[in-house]
Amino acid sequence: MELVYSVIIPAYNEQEVIVESYNRLSSVMRGMDEPYELIFVNDGSRDATAFIIAGFCENDPAVVLLNFSRNFGHMPAISAGMAHARGKSVIVIDADLQDPPEVLPLMAAKWKEGYDVVYGKRSKRKGESVFKKVTAKVFYRLLRSMTNVDLPLDAGEFRLIDRRVCDAVNALPEKNRYIRGLVSWVGFKQIAVEYERQERFAGVTKYPLRKMISFAMDAITAFSYKPLKLATSLGFLFSLGGFAYMLVIIFQALFTDRTITGWASTLVVILMSQGIVLMILGMMGEYLGRIYEEMKNRPSYIIREIISKQTSDAKIP
Ligand code: UDP
Ligand code: MG
Repeated sequence: MELVYSVIIPAYNEQEVIVESYNRLSSVMRGMDEPYELIFVNDGSRDATAFIIAGFCENDPAVVLLNFSRNFGHMPAISAGMAHARGKSVIVIDADLQDPPEVLPLMAAKWKEGYDVVYGKRSKRKGESVFKKVTAKVFYRLLRSMTNVDLPLDAGEFRLIDRRVCDAVNALPEKNRYIRGLVSWVGFKQIAVEYERQERFAGVTKYPLRKMISFAMDAITAFSYKPLKLATSLGFLFSLGGFAYMLVIIFQALFTDRTITGWASTLVVILMSQGIVLMILGMMGEYLGRIYEEMKNRPSYIIREIISKQTSDAKIP
Protein backbone atom coordinates (compact mmCIF):
# COMPACT_ATOMS: atom_id res chain seq x y z
CA MET A 1 0.00 0.00 0.00
CA GLU A 2 1.55 3.25 -1.08
CA LEU A 3 1.25 6.11 1.38
CA VAL A 4 -0.06 9.33 -0.09
CA TYR A 5 0.35 11.61 2.91
CA SER A 6 2.99 11.71 5.64
CA VAL A 7 2.00 14.14 8.35
CA ILE A 8 4.81 15.37 10.61
CA ILE A 9 3.86 16.67 14.04
CA PRO A 10 6.73 18.00 16.18
CA ALA A 11 5.80 17.92 19.84
CA TYR A 12 7.61 19.24 22.88
CA ASN A 13 5.78 19.02 26.21
CA GLU A 14 2.37 18.99 24.56
CA GLN A 15 0.49 16.62 26.89
CA GLU A 16 -2.43 19.06 27.19
CA VAL A 17 -3.16 19.15 23.45
CA ILE A 18 -1.82 15.98 21.95
CA VAL A 19 -4.97 13.88 22.27
CA GLU A 20 -7.13 16.56 20.70
CA SER A 21 -4.56 17.05 17.91
CA TYR A 22 -4.50 13.35 17.20
CA ASN A 23 -8.29 13.13 17.09
CA ARG A 24 -8.77 16.12 14.83
CA LEU A 25 -5.91 15.20 12.52
CA SER A 26 -7.09 11.61 12.25
CA SER A 27 -10.62 12.59 11.38
CA VAL A 28 -9.45 15.05 8.70
CA MET A 29 -7.00 12.53 7.26
CA ARG A 30 -9.58 9.75 7.23
CA GLY A 31 -11.94 12.10 5.40
CA MET A 32 -9.32 12.54 2.68
CA ASP A 33 -9.68 8.87 1.97
CA GLU A 34 -6.15 7.97 0.96
CA PRO A 35 -3.44 6.08 2.88
CA TYR A 36 -1.58 8.27 5.34
CA GLU A 37 0.81 8.10 8.27
CA LEU A 38 1.09 10.42 11.27
CA ILE A 39 4.70 10.88 12.32
CA PHE A 40 4.89 12.34 15.80
CA VAL A 41 8.34 13.59 16.68
CA ASN A 42 8.70 13.78 20.43
CA ASP A 43 11.43 16.37 20.91
CA GLY A 44 12.62 15.25 24.34
CA SER A 45 9.42 16.12 26.19
CA ARG A 46 9.63 15.93 29.96
CA ASP A 47 5.90 15.37 30.43
CA ALA A 48 3.60 12.54 29.36
CA THR A 49 3.65 13.43 25.64
CA ALA A 50 5.67 10.37 24.59
CA PHE A 51 3.60 8.06 26.74
CA ILE A 52 0.33 9.33 25.29
CA ILE A 53 1.57 9.03 21.71
CA ALA A 54 2.87 5.51 22.36
CA GLY A 55 -0.73 4.77 23.34
CA PHE A 56 -1.95 5.92 19.90
CA CYS A 57 0.59 3.57 18.30
CA GLU A 58 -0.93 0.63 20.15
CA ASN A 59 -4.29 1.06 18.47
CA ASP A 60 -3.53 2.84 15.23
CA PRO A 61 -1.07 1.43 12.67
CA ALA A 62 -0.99 4.84 10.93
CA VAL A 63 0.95 6.36 13.84
CA VAL A 64 4.74 6.46 14.02
CA LEU A 65 6.53 7.89 17.04
CA LEU A 66 10.11 9.13 16.84
CA ASN A 67 11.51 9.67 20.30
CA PHE A 68 14.52 12.01 20.47
CA SER A 69 17.25 11.36 23.01
CA ARG A 70 16.77 14.94 24.35
CA ASN A 71 15.30 18.27 23.31
CA PHE A 72 16.91 19.28 20.03
CA GLY A 73 14.48 21.94 18.83
CA HIS A 74 11.59 22.51 16.46
CA MET A 75 13.64 22.52 13.22
CA PRO A 76 15.57 19.31 14.01
CA ALA A 77 12.24 17.66 14.89
CA ILE A 78 10.81 18.52 11.48
CA SER A 79 14.03 17.39 9.77
CA ALA A 80 13.76 14.01 11.47
CA GLY A 81 10.14 13.69 10.38
CA MET A 82 11.08 14.53 6.80
CA ALA A 83 13.86 11.96 6.82
CA HIS A 84 11.41 9.25 7.93
CA ALA A 85 8.39 10.26 5.84
CA ARG A 86 7.44 7.71 3.20
CA GLY A 87 4.42 9.36 1.63
CA LYS A 88 4.10 10.85 -1.84
CA SER A 89 3.51 14.17 -0.13
CA VAL A 90 4.71 15.46 3.21
CA ILE A 91 2.74 17.71 5.54
CA VAL A 92 4.13 19.65 8.48
CA ILE A 93 1.76 20.86 11.17
CA ASP A 94 2.20 22.13 14.75
CA ALA A 95 0.96 19.96 17.59
CA ASP A 96 -0.93 22.78 19.28
CA LEU A 97 -3.74 23.10 16.68
CA GLN A 98 -2.75 26.66 15.83
CA ASP A 99 -2.60 25.39 12.27
CA PRO A 100 -6.10 24.02 11.67
CA PRO A 101 -6.02 20.48 10.18
CA GLU A 102 -9.20 21.36 8.28
CA VAL A 103 -7.04 23.36 5.83
CA LEU A 104 -5.25 20.18 4.72
CA PRO A 105 -7.84 19.09 2.11
CA LEU A 106 -7.43 22.51 0.43
CA MET A 107 -3.67 22.07 0.39
CA ALA A 108 -4.02 18.57 -1.01
CA ALA A 109 -6.28 19.88 -3.76
CA LYS A 110 -3.63 22.42 -4.82
CA TRP A 111 -1.01 19.67 -4.78
CA LYS A 112 -3.18 17.56 -7.05
CA GLU A 113 -3.50 20.53 -9.40
CA GLY A 114 0.25 20.23 -9.83
CA TYR A 115 1.85 22.49 -7.24
CA ASP A 116 4.88 21.06 -5.45
CA VAL A 117 4.81 23.29 -2.38
CA VAL A 118 1.57 24.50 -0.83
CA TYR A 119 2.37 26.70 2.16
CA GLY A 120 0.02 28.16 4.71
CA LYS A 121 -0.01 31.94 4.83
CA ARG A 122 -1.34 33.46 8.02
CA SER A 123 -3.97 36.00 7.12
CA LYS A 124 -4.69 36.54 10.79
CA ARG A 125 -3.13 35.42 14.02
CA LYS A 126 -5.54 34.85 16.83
CA GLY A 127 -4.73 34.76 20.51
CA GLU A 128 -1.07 35.69 20.19
CA SER A 129 0.50 38.60 22.05
CA VAL A 130 0.96 41.93 20.29
CA PHE A 131 4.68 41.52 20.94
CA LYS A 132 4.78 38.17 19.10
CA LYS A 133 2.77 39.51 16.17
CA VAL A 134 4.90 42.65 15.77
CA THR A 135 8.25 40.86 16.13
CA ALA A 136 7.11 38.18 13.67
CA LYS A 137 6.01 40.80 11.11
CA VAL A 138 9.29 42.72 11.45
CA PHE A 139 11.34 39.52 11.32
CA TYR A 140 9.82 38.17 8.10
CA ARG A 141 10.18 41.54 6.37
CA LEU A 142 13.73 42.14 7.59
CA LEU A 143 14.83 38.66 6.56
CA ARG A 144 13.24 39.02 3.15
CA SER A 145 14.93 42.38 2.56
CA MET A 146 18.30 40.83 3.38
CA THR A 147 18.30 37.90 1.00
CA ASN A 148 17.85 37.06 -2.66
CA VAL A 149 15.83 33.94 -1.90
CA ASP A 150 12.13 34.41 -2.47
CA LEU A 151 10.97 33.88 1.11
CA PRO A 152 7.21 34.22 1.50
CA LEU A 153 5.98 36.64 4.17
CA ASP A 154 3.99 35.45 7.20
CA ALA A 155 4.37 31.77 6.43
CA GLY A 156 5.49 29.27 9.06
CA GLU A 157 6.11 25.56 8.87
CA PHE A 158 2.50 24.62 8.09
CA ARG A 159 2.62 23.26 4.54
CA LEU A 160 2.31 20.34 2.18
CA ILE A 161 5.21 19.46 -0.08
CA ASP A 162 5.69 16.94 -2.83
CA ARG A 163 8.03 13.97 -2.35
CA ARG A 164 10.51 15.51 -4.79
CA VAL A 165 10.75 18.69 -2.69
CA CYS A 166 11.16 16.65 0.50
CA ASP A 167 14.00 14.66 -1.09
CA ALA A 168 15.67 17.85 -2.35
CA VAL A 169 15.55 19.45 1.12
CA ASN A 170 16.69 16.24 2.83
CA ALA A 171 19.67 16.13 0.51
CA LEU A 172 20.95 19.54 1.63
CA PRO A 173 23.95 18.89 3.86
CA GLU A 174 23.64 21.82 6.26
CA LYS A 175 22.91 21.14 9.90
CA ASN A 176 21.43 24.50 10.86
CA ARG A 177 18.12 24.08 9.11
CA TYR A 178 15.73 26.99 8.78
CA ILE A 179 13.34 24.70 6.99
CA ARG A 180 10.81 27.15 5.59
CA GLY A 181 13.81 28.96 4.04
CA LEU A 182 15.28 25.80 2.58
CA VAL A 183 11.93 24.87 1.06
CA SER A 184 11.84 28.27 -0.67
CA TRP A 185 15.45 27.94 -1.70
CA VAL A 186 14.96 24.64 -3.55
CA GLY A 187 12.36 26.31 -5.77
CA PHE A 188 9.72 24.14 -7.54
CA LYS A 189 6.16 25.34 -8.13
CA GLN A 190 4.98 27.05 -4.97
CA ILE A 191 1.64 28.47 -3.97
CA ALA A 192 0.09 29.90 -0.79
CA VAL A 193 -3.15 28.94 0.88
CA GLU A 194 -4.40 31.57 3.31
CA TYR A 195 -5.64 30.54 6.71
CA GLU A 196 -6.39 32.07 10.07
CA ARG A 197 -3.90 31.03 12.67
CA GLN A 198 -5.87 29.87 15.69
CA GLU A 199 -5.26 30.29 19.33
CA ARG A 200 -3.19 27.54 20.95
CA PHE A 201 -5.67 24.82 21.98
CA ALA A 202 -4.04 24.35 25.38
CA GLY A 203 -0.64 24.63 27.04
CA VAL A 204 1.86 27.43 26.58
CA THR A 205 4.22 28.45 23.80
CA LYS A 206 7.48 26.51 23.59
CA TYR A 207 9.18 29.50 21.99
CA PRO A 208 10.22 31.88 24.76
CA LEU A 209 12.02 35.10 23.78
CA ARG A 210 15.44 33.45 24.09
CA LYS A 211 14.50 30.76 21.56
CA MET A 212 12.84 33.32 19.29
CA ILE A 213 16.06 35.35 19.13
CA SER A 214 18.28 32.37 18.39
CA PHE A 215 15.76 31.17 15.80
CA ALA A 216 15.90 34.59 14.11
CA MET A 217 19.70 34.62 14.18
CA ASP A 218 19.80 31.11 12.68
CA ALA A 219 17.54 32.22 9.86
CA ILE A 220 19.41 35.44 9.14
CA THR A 221 22.89 33.91 9.20
CA ALA A 222 21.74 31.02 7.02
CA PHE A 223 20.18 33.21 4.36
CA SER A 224 22.13 36.45 4.29
CA TYR A 225 25.57 37.83 4.90
CA LYS A 226 24.41 41.44 4.72
CA PRO A 227 25.10 41.93 8.47
CA LEU A 228 28.77 41.29 7.73
CA LYS A 229 28.77 43.92 5.05
CA LEU A 230 27.40 46.39 7.58
CA ALA A 231 30.95 46.73 8.91
CA THR A 232 32.16 48.07 5.59
CA SER A 233 29.47 50.72 5.26
CA LEU A 234 29.61 51.81 8.89
CA GLY A 235 33.40 51.95 8.82
CA PHE A 236 33.27 54.07 5.69
CA LEU A 237 30.68 56.40 7.20
CA PHE A 238 32.67 56.85 10.38
CA SER A 239 35.95 57.62 8.63
CA LEU A 240 34.16 60.09 6.38
CA GLY A 241 32.66 61.81 9.42
CA GLY A 242 36.03 61.81 11.17
CA PHE A 243 37.75 63.28 8.16
CA ALA A 244 35.17 66.04 7.76
CA TYR A 245 35.46 66.93 11.40
CA MET A 246 39.24 67.04 11.11
CA LEU A 247 38.93 69.65 8.37
CA VAL A 248 36.71 71.72 10.66
CA ILE A 249 39.27 71.54 13.46
CA ILE A 250 42.14 72.55 11.19
CA PHE A 251 40.08 75.44 9.88
CA GLN A 252 39.28 76.58 13.42
CA ALA A 253 42.91 76.35 14.51
CA LEU A 254 44.18 78.39 11.56
CA PHE A 255 41.53 80.99 11.02
CA THR A 256 39.66 81.48 14.33
CA ASP A 257 40.75 81.94 17.90
CA ARG A 258 38.20 79.56 19.38
CA THR A 259 39.87 77.06 21.65
CA ILE A 260 38.99 73.47 21.04
CA THR A 261 36.92 72.27 23.99
CA GLY A 262 34.66 69.35 24.63
CA TRP A 263 36.18 66.22 26.07
CA ALA A 264 32.57 65.09 26.54
CA SER A 265 31.94 65.01 22.81
CA THR A 266 35.19 63.11 22.34
CA LEU A 267 34.07 60.54 24.85
CA VAL A 268 30.71 60.15 23.15
CA VAL A 269 32.36 59.52 19.80
CA ILE A 270 34.76 56.99 21.32
CA LEU A 271 32.04 55.10 23.15
CA MET A 272 29.82 55.05 20.13
CA SER A 273 32.45 53.86 17.72
CA GLN A 274 33.67 51.26 20.19
CA GLY A 275 30.09 50.08 20.60
CA ILE A 276 29.73 49.67 16.88
CA VAL A 277 33.05 47.83 16.61
CA LEU A 278 32.04 45.42 19.35
CA MET A 279 28.65 44.89 17.78
CA ILE A 280 30.26 44.02 14.47
CA LEU A 281 32.70 41.68 16.19
CA GLY A 282 29.72 39.99 17.84
CA MET A 283 27.99 39.69 14.48
CA MET A 284 31.09 38.03 13.02
CA GLY A 285 31.09 35.76 16.05
CA GLU A 286 27.55 34.66 15.22
CA TYR A 287 28.70 33.52 11.78
CA LEU A 288 31.95 32.08 13.05
CA GLY A 289 30.17 30.02 15.71
CA ARG A 290 27.81 28.62 13.11
CA ILE A 291 30.66 27.79 10.75
CA TYR A 292 32.25 25.93 13.66
CA GLU A 293 28.99 24.09 14.35
CA GLU A 294 28.70 23.01 10.72
CA MET A 295 32.33 21.98 10.64
CA LYS A 296 32.00 19.67 13.62
CA ASN A 297 29.38 17.92 11.52
CA ARG A 298 27.46 16.49 14.46
CA PRO A 299 23.97 15.25 13.64
CA SER A 300 21.25 17.83 14.30
CA TYR A 301 19.25 15.25 16.28
CA ILE A 302 19.56 11.77 17.77
CA ILE A 303 16.66 9.32 17.77
CA ARG A 304 16.42 7.15 20.86
CA GLU A 305 13.72 4.85 19.52
CA ILE A 306 11.04 4.50 16.89
CA ILE A 307 7.68 3.10 17.90
CA SER A 308 5.11 1.96 15.38
CA LYS A 309 2.87 -0.98 14.64
CA GLN A 310 4.01 -0.98 11.01
CA THR A 311 7.61 -1.84 11.84
CA SER A 312 6.89 -4.59 14.34
CA ASP A 313 6.87 -3.08 17.82
CA ALA A 314 9.75 -0.95 18.94
CA LYS A 315 13.06 -0.84 17.20
CA ILE A 316 16.27 0.99 17.83
CA PRO A 317 17.41 2.78 14.67
N1 UDP B 1 8.43 22.43 19.37
C1 UDP B 1 9.38 21.41 19.36
N2 UDP B 1 10.57 21.61 19.99
C2 UDP B 1 10.89 22.79 20.64
C3 UDP B 1 9.91 23.83 20.63
C4 UDP B 1 8.70 23.61 19.97
O1 UDP B 1 9.15 20.34 18.79
O2 UDP B 1 11.96 22.89 21.21
C5 UDP B 1 7.13 22.21 18.69
C6 UDP B 1 5.91 22.44 19.56
O3 UDP B 1 5.54 21.29 20.29
C7 UDP B 1 4.87 22.82 18.52
C8 UDP B 1 5.69 23.54 17.45
O4 UDP B 1 7.04 23.14 17.65
O5 UDP B 1 4.26 21.70 17.93
C9 UDP B 1 5.57 25.04 17.55
O6 UDP B 1 5.86 25.47 18.87
P1 UDP B 1 4.95 26.51 19.65
O7 UDP B 1 3.51 26.28 19.32
O8 UDP B 1 5.30 26.46 21.10
O9 UDP B 1 5.45 27.88 19.03
P2 UDP B 1 4.55 29.17 18.70
O10 UDP B 1 3.36 28.69 17.94
O11 UDP B 1 4.20 29.75 20.01
O12 UDP B 1 5.48 30.01 17.89
MG1 MG C 1 2.06 27.30 18.51
